[in-house]
Amino acid sequence: MESRMDFKGRTVVVTGSGRGIGRAIAEAFGARGADVVICDLDQQVVEQVAAEIGGGCVGYRANVTSAADIDELFRNVMNKFGRVDVVVNNAGITRDGLMVRMDEKDWDMVLDINLKGAFLVTKAAARIMMKQRYGRIINISSVAGLTGNVGQANYSASKAGLVGFTKTVAKELASRGVTANAVAPGFIETEMTEALSDSAREYLLGKVILGRPGKPEEVASAVVFLASEAASYVTGQMLAVDGGLVIS
Ligand code: NAD
Repeated sequence: MESRMDFKGRTVVVTGSGRGIGRAIAEAFGARGADVVICDLDQQVVEQVAAEIGGGCVGYRANVTSAADIDELFRNVMNKFGRVDVVVNNAGITRDGLMVRMDEKDWDMVLDINLKGAFLVTKAAARIMMKQRYGRIINISSVAGLTGNVGQANYSASKAGLVGFTKTVAKELASRGVTANAVAPGFIETEMTEALSDSAREYLLGKVILGRPGKPEEVASAVVFLASEAASYVTGQMLAVDGGLVIS
C-alpha cells in the first residue's frame, strides 16, 4: 500500500494553502515526494510556506475568483513542472449570519470563492489533465453542505454545490483517466473555527461522536488517499472526515 501512496514526479496544486487545512494538505503531499504548488492570496505567504515545505515546493499568488490569475497560475506550473496531476480545491471562506439578515454581498463573496473558484481552477486543470489522460481532482466541501447549519446559508449552499459539481466533473472526465472526489471536514481546528463563539463551539463539539475537534492533518490524510493509486477506482464520492458529526 505504501508505494501506492508515493507522489514522486507528481505535481500537486493546492489552493488556499497558505495556512490551515490547505497547508496541512500541501505538507502531506510534500512529505510523500510530490512537487507541491502553494497558491494563496499573499505573495509573501506563499513564498514563505513553499520555502518551509522545501523539496520541489513553489508558491504562486493567485485569487481563485480571477480567471486571469488562474490561467497565469497554470501557465507557471506548466512552465516549471510540465504537468498537473492533482488539484485540491481548498480555498474557502465563511461570512456567517442568519439568512433573513444576510447581505447580498456576503452571499456573493462566499459563492464566488468557495464554488466559482473551484470551477475556474478545475476548468483550467482539466484541460491539462485530459491531455495527460491522468488527473485527480479533490474538492474540499463541508459537513455544513450536507446537513445545513444555522447562520451559514451562503456557506452551506456553496459546499453542497461542490458535491454536485464533483459528481458532474467525475462523469465528464472519467473517460480521460481523471477522477473527482470531495472531502467534507467537520469541526477542524484552524483559524476559521477559532472565530466561532464558545457556544457554537460547544454545540458542535457535543455532536462529534469521537468527542474532539479534528486536526488539519487528519483531513490531509483523506485527501492524500483520494489522490493516490490506492483510490484508483474511487470517483464521484464524498468522504466525510468529521469524527462522526454528520451521523449524530
Ligand atoms: P482558513 O481560513 O484557515 O484558510 C483558508 C485559506 O484560503 C487562507 O489561507 C486564505 O487566504 C485562502 N483563501 C481565501 N480566499 C481565497 C481566494 N479567493 N483565493 C485563494 N486563496 C484564498 O480555513 P481552513 O479552516 O483551513 O479551511 C480550508 C477549507 O476547508 C475551506 O474550504 C473550508 O471551507 C473547509 N472546511 C473547514 C472546516 C474547519 O472546521 N476548519 C470544516 C469544513 C470545511
